[in-house]
Amino acid sequence: MATWSYDELLEKNRRFLWNPFTQMKGYLEDEPLIIERGEGVKLYDVRGRAYYDGNASVWLNVHGHGHPKLNAAIREQLDQVAHSTLLGMSNVPALLLAEKLVQLTPERLQKVFYSDSGAEAVEIGLKMAYQYWKLRGRPEKQVFISMKNAYHGDTVGAVSVGGMDTFHTTFSGMLFPTLKVSYPYPYRFDGSPEACRQACLDELAEVLAEHGDKVAGLIVEPMVQGAGGMIMMPPGTLAEIEKLCRAHEVLLLIDEVATGFGRTGRLFACEHEAVQPDIMMVGKKLTGGYLPVAATLTSDEVYDAFYGEHHEGKTFYHGHSYTGNQLGCAVALANLALYEEERVLEHVAKASRHLAEWLEPMKALPHVGEVRQLGLMVGIELVKDKVTKEPHPWEEAIGARVCRRARELGLITRPLDHVVTFMPPLATPLADLQAMVGILEQAIREGTA
Ligand SMILES: *Cc1c(COP(=O)(O)O)cnc(C)c1O
Repeated sequence: MATWSYDELLEKNRRFLWNPFTQMKGYLEDEPLIIERGEGVKLYDVRGRAYYDGNASVWLNVHGHGHPKLNAAIREQLDQVAHSTLLGMSNVPALLLAEKLVQLTPERLQKVFYSDSGAEAVEIGLKMAYQYWKLRGRPEKQVFISMKNAYHGDTVGAVSVGGMDTFHTTFSGMLFPTLKVSYPYPYRFDGSPEACRQACLDELAEVLAEHGDKVAGLIVEPMVQGAGGMIMMPPGTLAEIEKLCRAHEVLLLIDEVATGFGRTGRLFACEHEAVQPDIMMVGKKLTGGYLPVAATLTSDEVYDAFYGEHHEGKTFYHGHSYTGNQLGCAVALANLALYEEERVLEHVAKASRHLAEWLEPMKALPHVGEVRQLGLMVGIELVKDKVTKEPHPWEEAIGARVCRRARELGLITRPLDHVVTFMPPLATPLADLQAMVGILEQAIREGTA
């Protein structure tokens, strides 16, 4: 392949490419990063500069870039076939992966429906829940409960159950209405974490008491609201949400797209509270961060409601061109095998203990309001005033400033408004992890000065 200079590539970016979640003006004016290759936990740009992948390429990467076993799994599958459809027929890796996912996920989940992204997995879960109640003879159950400040992806249904004003307000006219309840945010609650949890549960109980008979399902990010700012539930919240859903015959839809596959220290975040979803979405780390495969898992109770003769009209009419893609499923299988071979969860447990220790000094920095961590999922909330918790004005883009400084120092990560995230690849060696935290601390000190 011909090699291109940075300037030539930048010109192509300017002329031809519209980047996602990106204000192109600021981006193009600020020396865009153009990645050429990756190796382990580092990415290298076309000018040969190395960067730690401090957000696992937006929360995906597990074992590092260019892992020989993952590369080999893709090559081997490629020699068989790259893709054939899953509409009305099957393929080998999709079947093996479905079996593996059912074994790994909570007991109640027994069937796997594939798609290509977390947002699609969410759409599918919502549509399943909606049709499920029609099939069960309860068509009045068609509203969803979702959380304020939630993020479930960027397609129209996923945005409807989302709650982040910055991303969502523009599209309000296109969205279907949902019943929104509060997600506990202890740092910004006037009272103890327990009181915060109780206030949220009371609010949910009230909504369910009034509207429960019209509610198809409740969708929630388990333990941590990711894109909403790494906001973490006080213990006991999720288990109580499950109880309330059961009491009101509301399907529990758990979005494990960010938290799943070990990010929070357990294989799935709902395991922290032994919660059994009716529908669960996974994506992101499913393929180790290599190819776009996501899945919606359901209970047999949900699946069985759709099962019948053609003329009964119970079919779930949903699918995508690349659903069950062989290359993606093959690398997902190899990824999950590596979790076992390389004892990734044990490494996450150890790495998170060290990480907690290394993050500790950051709490003393003048503009750090709160450091939140669960497993290897970290959010550092910056504030203008530590005492009053007053945030920096939005226009200051304080998080972006800090992340820009981190990039100069050799670490890539993205802010969520005024929250700086740190989501290293799960298998990051301890020495690299410590080096990354060092850069992050320096970036926060200098970027907020
Ligand atoms: C990233 C994310 C999604 C969307 O996944 P995409 O693959 O980007 O569509 C959905 N839910 C949560 C919790 C996420 O973090």
